[in-house]
Amino acid sequence: MTTATAFLYHPAFLKHHTGLKHPDRRQRLTAIVERLKRSGLLDRLLPVEPTPAPIEAITTIHDPAYVQSLKDRCATLRVFEASEDTIASRGTYDAACLAAGAVLAAIDTVTSQRARNAFCAVRPPGHHAERDRAMGFCFFNNVAIGARYLQRCHSLKRIAIIDWDVHHGNGTEHAFYDDPSVLYVSTHQFPHYPGSGRAHDTGTGPGKGYTLNIPMAAGSTGTDYLQAFAHDIKPAVTRFKPDFILVSAGFDAHRDDPMASMLLTENDFAALTRQVVDLAEEHCSGRLVSVLEGGYCLDALAASVEAHIRALMGA
Ligand SMILES: [Zn+2]
Repeated sequence: MTTATAFLYHPAFLKHHTGLKHPDRRQRLTAIVERLKRSGLLDRLLPVEPTPAPIEAITTIHDPAYVQSLKDRCATLRVFEASEDTIASRGTYDAACLAAGAVLAAIDTVTSQRARNAFCAVRPPGHHAERDRAMGFCFFNNVAIGARYLQRCHSLKRIAIIDWDVHHGNGTEHAFYDDPSVLYVSTHQFPHYPGSGRAHDTGTGPGKGYTLNIPMAAGSTGTDYLQAFAHDIKPAVTRFKPDFILVSAGFDAHRDDPMASMLLTENDFAALTRQVVDLAEEHCSGRLVSVLEGGYCLDALAASVEAHIRALMGA
């Protein structure tokens, strides 16, 4: 049984241009890759080249008319606002298809046991993207598309999504709000953008109890996050018994991040990673795919991703 950790990245992610002052800039990914190269870590990861997600996979989560309209607008406009704060350019549609495709390729790699787990260094991110609109720097919901792909193409029934980005993943919550086959767990600063994610929002109909929102006060530390894991997240995942775990790995709860007010360090992200790796070992033979969401201080992001990957490798 392999113990490799796969790494998914593509230079086309850099062609999603958002302008010089936008927080989701291409340097986020180049900083990560440079740091992994410098530390020698990149050579120890299994490289997997992503291909674009097929439209049929994207439209399990998104309205086909929205997908087509994004494609058309990217083909004809140089740069445009896809929603208030969410900028798109010529390269955005291809980058978004590849970002979702990276998650699918990571899933294939892990389910075929070529790697034990995987990290997808992608942009644009995904967890704010709604069924029919871009939002919060996100176009296609990479992790949500991955969850449906696991169910449809790998016959894995129960998928847990753990989202520790500092913002609530409104798009992911909405995609599975009435669905008991996907457990969505989110820690997020509250109140904060996007405003959703109250503790009493727990799902609806058959999905009641399969959304777990853990709002955290500004100024929360790694200790607070580990307590949330011990008291809430671990018991919920243990009850759910997932066949596969997906992580919406945002690193904007770092103390140096300009977009929020949490106090985590890269070591805290390593500790959180060890928690999810343990849960994956316990319930699903270690099968876990982690997907980059936010993280906007370049140094903090690169250091946190390095710590996260080392913990995925079991180092
Ligand atoms: Zn975020």
